[in-house]
Amino acid sequence: MTPVSSRPDPKMSLDQIRAEIERRNPAEPEFHQAAREVLETLAPVLAARPEYADPGLVERLIEPERQIIFRVPWTDDNGRVHVNRGFRIEFNSALGPYKGGLRFHPSVNLGIIKFLGFEQIFKNALTGLGIGGGKGGSDFDPQGRSDAEVMRFCQSFMTELYRHIGEYTDIPAGDIGVGAREIGYLFGQYRRITNRWEGGVLTGKAAGWGGSLIRPEATGYGNVLFAEAMLRARGEELAGQTAVVSGSGNVAIYTIQKLTALGATPVTCSDSGGYVVDEKGIDLELLRQIKEVERGRVSTYAERRGGSARYVPGGRVWEVPADVALPSATQNELNADDAATLIRNGVKAVSEGANMPTTPDAVDLLQQAGVAFGPGKAANAGGVAVSALEMTQNASRMAWKADHVEAELARIMTDIHTTCAETAERYGVPGDYVAGANIAGFERVADAMLAQGII
Ligand code: NDP
Repeated sequence: MTPVSSRPDPKMSLDQIRAEIERRNPAEPEFHQAAREVLETLAPVLAARPEYADPGLVERLIEPERQIIFRVPWTDDNGRVHVNRGFRIEFNSALGPYKGGLRFHPSVNLGIIKFLGFEQIFKNALTGLGIGGGKGGSDFDPQGRSDAEVMRFCQSFMTELYRHIGEYTDIPAGDIGVGAREIGYLFGQYRRITNRWEGGVLTGKAAGWGGSLIRPEATGYGNVLFAEAMLRARGEELAGQTAVVSGSGNVAIYTIQKLTALGATPVTCSDSGGYVVDEKGIDLELLRQIKEVERGRVSTYAERRGGSARYVPGGRVWEVPADVALPSATQNELNADDAATLIRNGVKAVSEGANMPTTPDAVDLLQQAGVAFGPGKAANAGGVAVSALEMTQNASRMAWKADHVEAELARIMTDIHTTCAETAERYGVPGDYVAGANIAGFERVADAMLAQGII
């Protein structure tokens, strides 16, 4: 790699770094995409603050501190042995112990976990709390598996992972395919192996044994609060607006709940099979019964809801006209065609509940059309923020009341919105929450890295 001190101009050196990322991390398109998106916005801050150009700060930031890949063998209910792959990427611990979720989904590979871990560094920095960035998971598919199979998989996964984590080292949590059930099994195995009741080693625990109230709600609630803040900054209110939401998991469910509570009307939800549109607004109780109790599909929602709802197999929620769009399923689920459709239908704000759900060309289109765009690393940071509050409660052996946690969440989301808006303004790109989030997150991590020397 070119010695950093010989760089003639920060923009060019960022291009070189980008080329290096692609060369050194082949076949990891999602990681390239996430890194490119951050690097593209850093040129002004590197030009304005020359102390960041040396010594190799950006080069260190894009290289994970540690990458762990391991075998996860487990036995299904018929006695057949399966072998999955486990990952934990400990990306950056300048601000605190590594913190980030675990994803169990068949699409999981190294590049996806690295993109998620990289995003997590900046997201965690934006919360203002003391947490570094990490992410993990496996290509295990929990869909269609019995509770006993999921338990055996989680136990096998933790039998390797336990040696790498700890409340002062690395604290995993949930993500796609990892909810309260999986966190319970993972925690049980950690406790058994280590003989330690170490509450702060995992977050997303159930409230009865160390979990925080409002943690399940936090990502969805936080994203709705972020969308509301963006609208208010433009003199508009969320109440009375129609919203399209994708997904039907943890983030989508609590997004729908908060939208309804604040007077908006969420009219869609989806899964990988298709979407539901419900003109009367999604009936959350029915959706939760199907998804959380029966572990079913959204097509069942339309069957049971009757006249106001219809199921569109294979369709995309973005074709439903709405004022606000909240992608809450997975990466790259909203592309340029979808963005064009949303713009045509008069969308005012897009706020990312999922991680990197909007493709870069779609982000460009939305921003050029003047749509308020909230990037995931800011808009969905409420989840990890309340995870950090769960760690605080565990450390003090206290359990906070729900309204206290919710007030803290609201304060943190307001602060994140203000930080992003003010940072964008300071660097001459007012209203650009992507640049604001990337630069503000970068500055906080970069300052800690500079202070801690070349490590
Ligand atoms: P869940 O597993 O609870 O739900 C995921 C939802 O997205 C399901 O409806 C699922 O449908 C759908 N989905 C997943 N993968 C795909 C795919 N490849 N194509 C189409 N649909 C898909 O996960 P969460 O709600 O926890 O996570 C959703 C997003 O939010 C992720 O991007 C995650 O990284 C992000 N996030 C989550 C946080 C949290 O606190 N949980 C915090 C911050 C971000 P199906 O059942 O058909 O697969």
